[in-house]
Amino acid sequence: MSASLELGDIFRAAGPAWRAAHAGRLPLQQLKVMSAIEHCRTAALGGHVAACGDCGHWRIAYNSCRNRHCPRCQGNAARTWLAEREADLLPVGYFHVVFTLPARIVKRSDRVKGFVVLPKRWIVERSFAWLGRCRRLTRDVEATISSSHAWLMIAHIRRVLRKINQTAF
Ligand SMILES: [Zn+2]
Repeated sequence: MSASLELGDIFRAAGPAWRAAHAGRLPLQQLKVMSAIEHCRTAALGGHVAACGDCGHWRIAYNSCRNRHCPRCQGNAARTWLAEREADLLPVGYFHVVFTLPARIVKRSDRVKGFVVLPKRWIVERSFAWLGRCRRLTRDVEATISSSHAWLMIAHIRRVLRKINQTAF
């Protein structure tokens, strides 16, 4: 085991028992991801010897799984992406507001069939439609809540910029 506990360590230690306990109920895709993370940077995937020509020091560098769900393989890409997004932030305070709409706004009548515009609910529906135009949000691929929030912000910023651009000319 490495100095800090990683997901691969947990999968290697508890994965076989967990898979046996859930045999036949796990999607193949999840099993493939688990297997990739378990074998990432281990002898199972092979590797190469990196040696210093001057001092003769050498070490074995095992191959990466390169699975997009692997935190080891995608960790640097995620940190780079986050640093780039942080560099895009304006030097102002940001606020994230989460609120619940009252039931009288969002509740549809039980007698209504099909799509009917409700007085205030249409604002919510329209906002969802705006977000639906952002292809990045059409699939649930976010690994963290913060990246999900960032993509929601980006979608809204894009929409506002598009609107400003339309009214400027
Ligand atoms: Zn990996």
